Amino acid sequence: RDATYGFIGLGKMGAPMAANLRTKLPKEDTLYIFDVNKAATTEFQQKFGSGVQVASSVGEVVEHSETIITMLPEPAHVAGVFKTLTASPPPPLKSGTQRLFIDSSTIDVSTSLAVSRSVSECKSLNGTFVDAPVSGGVVGAAAGTLTFMLGGHESILPRAKEILSLMGARILPCGAPGTGLAAKLANNYLLAISNIGVAEAMRLGQKLGLEKDVLKNVINVSSGKCWSSEINNPIDNELKGFEGGFGVALMKKDLGLAVQAAQACGAKLEMAEKAQEVYATVLQKEGSKDFSIVYKWLKDRET
Ligand code: NAD
Repeated sequence: RDATYGFIGLGKMGAPMAANLRTKLPKEDTLYIFDVNKAATTEFQQKFGSGVQVASSVGEVVEHSETIITMLPEPAHVAGVFKTLTASPPPPLKSGTQRLFIDSSTIDVSTSLAVSRSVSECKSLNGTFVDAPVSGGVVGAAAGTLTFMLGGHESILPRAKEILSLMGARILPCGAPGTGLAAKLANNYLLAISNIGVAEAMRLGQKLGLEKDVLKNVINVSSGKCWSSEINNPIDNELKGFEGGFGVALMKKDLGLAVQAAQACGAKLEMAEKAQEVYATVLQKEGSKDFSIVYKWLKDRET
């Protein structure tokens, strides 16, 4: 068996995910990679050597690959890559194997469904598409412990799970195409709000005279406990200058996607407008550091 896999988008998430894939796949399998940033693919190739082929286009990746993972920044990038592919599709695989496209980017449900349809309609591609956005960040990507939220037709899920398990610890089937992203957007909406809530609560407690570690420990065994208080507490991130982690720009993007989705389906998000204002201001003032830097922005404006 000489299987081929493709990975498109070797950024902060994609590169460590592809590294896990390459390390865990059988040696005789080939991983084709492509990124518009040539430095990213060159660096990856130098690290892994044979067994990795740098392609000159997305078409070349897909021409050779049975399973293709995309990890791109925004909806327009995903739509653009698949528009190129469906406009001039590579021929079906000689083996007759159906191609599996796994998109792990965080994008909106409607773009993802449109891409999924375009793949099904493009007979020459002979492919099927699933949405599999991730939670766990750069640390989880490097450790191979990501959580994948999977949306796709039931018949393809076992094949998708097999490959995703090489990059993640949990694969959560959510239902039909688009539901992986629906779960991701709902989760990240909650994260956007709870991150601001933790920052405000940590500042409030300290202004009332509490030691910051005492307050953190109280919250983390009490009803306010959440990921932002426990794993990503701003008082810990402050010591690291809010470097790395989940950037303000990505949080702002995900919040925008959730708001857009809410408008389309009629859900009411009362906190969204204020949260969008906060992240837009923090991005402008602090740049794209870890999104828990909201804490510093609050602190700097205190009286
Ligand atoms: P990134 O910007 O670091 O990486 C994206 C990569 O895609 C870059 O290397 C870029 O050159 C490449 N790219 C852009 N357009 C391309 C094209 N047309 N063809 C090929 N390559 C192209 O972003 P990231 O942090 O890796 O995030 C990727 C996705 O994962 C985003 O949708 C993000 O919201 C989501 N995500 C990120 C995190 C995180 O902590 N960074 C966590 C969960 C989910």
